[in-house]
This record gives sequence, structure tokens and C-alpha cells, in this order.
Amino acid sequence: MPLEVLQRAAADMSDWHDADGRPSGMGVMEMSHRGKAFGSIVQHAQARLRSLLAVPEAFHILFMQGGGLAQNAIVPLNLCGPASGKPAVDFALTGSWSQKSWQEAAKYSQPHIAASAQETGFHHIPDPGSWQLSPGARYVHICSNETIHGVEFHTLPDLRALGSDAPLVVDFSSHVASRSVDWSRVGLAFAGAQKNLGPAGLTLVVVRDDLLHAALDTCPSAFTFKNIAANASLFNTPPTYGIYMAGLVFDWLEQQGGIAAMEARNIEKAALLYQAIDSSDLYFNPVEASCRSRMNVPFFLREPTLEAAFLQDAEQAGLLQLKGHKSVGGLRASIYNGMPLEGVQALVAFMRSFERTRA
Ligand SMILES: *Cc1c(COP(=O)(O)O)cnc(C)c1O
Repeated sequence: MPLEVLQRAAADMSDWHDADGRPSGMGVMEMSHRGKAFGSIVQHAQARLRSLLAVPEAFHILFMQGGGLAQNAIVPLNLCGPASGKPAVDFALTGSWSQKSWQEAAKYSQPHIAASAQETGFHHIPDPGSWQLSPGARYVHICSNETIHGVEFHTLPDLRALGSDAPLVVDFSSHVASRSVDWSRVGLAFAGAQKNLGPAGLTLVVVRDDLLHAALDTCPSAFTFKNIAANASLFNTPPTYGIYMAGLVFDWLEQQGGIAAMEARNIEKAALLYQAIDSSDLYFNPVEASCRSRMNVPFFLREPTLEAAFLQDAEQAGLLQLKGHKSVGGLRASIYNGMPLEGVQALVAFMRSFERTRA
């Protein structure tokens, strides 16, 4: 989280002030979600996000709960009906997250693997031109930034150019708001908020109008996109504080110069770190250069026995949470929007010094 956002939230914790500085006499957590004050907060967050990410009018912006994993069920529940029976759905497996989505979808659809990078350890993205798309698939799912394997789509696949008219479903949980989105290629995108948008508990869904009408009858009402869209994300009580915090993050993004400025900064941060890794004899990153993630940078030590010492020394230097995901091991630096360039510079300086003195 950007420090400025946390400070702003702290100042308003027990008495929220509106845009004109008028006090409301209560904190956001104490507000009715149907009241005027909260109404202005949710509308502001939505409008700000729409302008920041240039979301076209044909898309609804929904604030939901359940996190990214719940969307692995909520998406097929909303796109695989209205009749029961399991329609075909396509997946590109590029890492753990798309794999999880593929597994969950089997409850509601016939998930088909259109492409997979599993055999090579998820170190690349198979060229979309080689994907085996199923005729009549309800949607094609990708994870545009694989948080664990550090693999990112730098261009979204153009399904129409591949001869498919299925909507593209994108899990952009771990790089949302870090770069611009080509909405002309997207049918639906979802993100748990906790990586780049705000606190855990809020889930963002951006869904095109024409995809609101294919929910299974068994889809829970509170998870039916059509209901949430029709009620401007107030079908039931949404995660109010998370929406408020996300709104503050959106304001902060705007102050930073918007998504283009953020993207430029993220490119600079990632380049600095990958360059340090590639130029060292101790560290390496196994991902193909064309699809390395700007947000999640996994790296490994050529001498794995030094890992514990690396983590311990790093912690002493104030560099936290560098342990790799347990499923792949090694180390990982997650350099989300909230991480300033100085944070990456400090990491790189530490890595160089560790290599000099310990390896
Ligand atoms: C973190 C993450 C999720 C979110 O999972 P939760 O259910 O919110 O814990 C989903 N997809 C990706 C790519 C992620 O990085």
C-alpha cells in the first residue's frame, strides 16, 4: 500500500471527510452501505477506476467479495448457463494460477487445455498462434500475470485474429493497475484487490454487457454478475472499507500521473532488478525474457544452501517477504505499484553486497 494512502485513511479513521472537506461524524466502517456518504465513496471509486484504466462504457465495473479464487467458480457459474450441462471452456496453462482456475472450472464446464507450458516448468507462454481452441467454447481463460512463476502476458491474445469469437477471461489479480489494458481483446477481467488495489476482501470484476445473460440457474444470487451490475455493486453489503481504500489508491494513482506513469515506473523497477539478476554469478531467473513479469520476480541462488543466510541478512537490512512461494522455492520479489523505485534500488544494492561478501 502506498504510505500516503495509509496516512490518509488513518486521518479519516473515526471521522470521514467528503471531497469538500466536510466531516461526516463517522468512520467509513460505521456507515450504512445504503447511505449518501458511502454512496459517494463507491461511485467515486468506480468512476476513478473507469477513467484510470480507460474502461469502455460497454463494461460494468463490479465490486465483489470472495477473492480471486472464488472467481474461478463465479466466472463459469455466470458464463456456462443458462441451461445446465457442461459447455466447453478453454484454458491456457501458464502457471499455478491458471492451473487452479482450470481445475475449479471442471465443476461447471468441460475445461479444455488449449495450451500449456507445464512441461517446461512454466517458463514461457506458448505462442497464441499454436493454441488449440475448441469450437463453441464459452470463453477462453488466461492468467495475465502468473504471480508464482513470474510470467506475464505483455500483449493479450487477440482471439478474433485466431478465428475465435469466444470472450477472453483474464485473471489480472497480480498486475491490475500496473499497466494499460487493451479492452478490445477482453470479455471479462477479475482481480483480488490485495496485490495492487487495496486490502484483502475486495474483488474487482470488469465484465462486458453481453456476458451478463448466461448464468447457470444454480449460480448464487449474490454472485450473479447481472444482479450486482443492476444494483451498482450494492446488491448486498459489499466490502465497504475495501472499496473506500481502493478509492484512495485510485486517487493516489491519479496523482502519480495515472496508469501510463505507473507503467513507466514499473518498467524501470523491473528492468533494474532483472539486470542485477542477469549480470550476477549467484542469482538467476529462469523465465524467458519476453514474458518476464514486471510485478513478481522469482529468482534463485546457484548455491541454494545460501538461501537461509540471504533471507536472514535481507531481513536485517529491512528487506522483507523475499521468500519464494513454497511450491517453487527460491526467492521472489513482488514489486507492486506500492513499492517505490528506492525499494528496488535497496534490494539490488543488498543483493550485490551479499554476493560479494557471502558467495
Ligand atoms: C493472489 C491471486 C489470486 C487471488 O486469490 P485469493 O482468492 O484472493 O487469495 C488469484 N489469481 C492470481 C493470479 C493471484 O495472484
